[in-house]
Amino acid sequence: MSFYVQFLGTGSALPTARQHPTSQYIFCQNRHFLMDCGEATQIQLRIRKVKIQKLDAIFISHLHGDHYFGLVGLLSSMHLLGRKKPIAIYGPELLQKIVRLQLEIAGARLAYDLIFQHIADDFEGVVYEDNVIKVSTFKLKHKIPTHGFVFREKEKERSLLVEKFKTSGLSIQQIPDLKRGKDVVDEKGERHSFKKYTRKPKPRFSYAFCSDTAYSKNTIKWIKGVDVLYHEATFTKKDKERSVQTKHSTATEAATVAKEAEVGRLYFGHLSARYDNANQHLLEARAIFPESFEAVEGDVVKL
Ligand SMILES: [Zn+2]
Ligand SMILES: [Zn+2]
Repeated sequence: MSFYVQFLGTGSALPTARQHPTSQYIFCQNRHFLMDCGEATQIQLRIRKVKIQKLDAIFISHLHGDHYFGLVGLLSSMHLLGRKKPIAIYGPELLQKIVRLQLEIAGARLAYDLIFQHIADDFEGVVYEDNVIKVSTFKLKHKIPTHGFVFREKEKERSLLVEKFKTSGLSIQQIPDLKRGKDVVDEKGERHSFKKYTRKPKPRFSYAFCSDTAYSKNTIKWIKGVDVLYHEATFTKKDKERSVQTKHSTATEAATVAKEAEVGRLYFGHLSARYDNANQHLLEARAIFPESFEAVEGDVVKL
């Protein structure tokens, strides 16, 4: 699996025996990302056997405790386990102050660097990019400034048809051009089409994370066409009033976003502790968008 998401916590503000606060592990072509870090995330990472020292970056959507109260604990454990590799933390500006203060009061000195990348309240755009993936952030609609994130793989290289290439008379220095879809010329000046020696690149995938938020039209353009969308669905229809007061979504609204953005599949989570199960959410979501599923802790979603 080269790109997958594992749900670590799919509950909302009040943890229950069934659900932890928000956190997800995202693996993409050897990049290891953590999306939000609610209480007990480090324990969930251990239970799910995710190697915490491999984490490259942590993204924090907003400063409600159920999305970051596990952060200082995780950072401390990384230190105790001998981490030396820096870690990047993307989130609101105040997060740096909070983390520094907590560490300072405890007299804790980490043996590795925390690289804070502030996301301004109004910022929308690319926050992380390397040669295989681009991560963009966008504003959600919640009680305090909150951001969603979308992870999009970049165009992949074509793969080489080795046996055909061997008999081509071309040099191995020309392989990168062929893989990038460029024709090449051999020593005799003869032109060779890249199509003859390579096959189509593997498809690229994309994943979007939207929590916490009321229904927001702005989200649609940012997540258009993603393969998998995680969207919060804190409430069902009968608690619609409560969802308006708290700026959260109902299952119907999450499914509407999925439908309007033409995504592949919807996984919904952040269910209020008032519900014992997700049956009603599922009914309401599927009435709008049939490819809707409950995000279950521990489940791995392959893209
Ligand atoms: Zn929340
Ligand atoms: Zn919140």
